Amino acid sequence: MAGSWASTRLAEGIANQLPNMSALILESVLTCPRCGFTKTETMPTDACQFYYECTNCKTLLRPNLGDCCVFCSFGSVKCPPVQEQRECCR
Ligand SMILES: [Zn+2]
Repeated sequence: MAGSWASTRLAEGIANQLPNMSALILESVLTCPRCGFTKTETMPTDACQFYYECTNCKTLLRPNLGDCCVFCSFGSVKCPPVQEQRECCR
């Protein structure tokens, strides 16, 4: 009787490394070009904000030519779609 057992052990070491989850910054500091007033605003992730009224001087801000939203023009951080480098509102 010749019995030889070959036991194979598979050691699976799967390192599940998630690709750096898109670290979107959702807060942007808007600076009014007219009075210099700054305010931290939370940006919507699914839409772009075209108009923004300065809480200080009540000026209605609109994006500069070529920018998609007020955050791109006056904010400290670009809007989420631009951060993700995907098509935004155009
Ligand atoms: Zn202002």
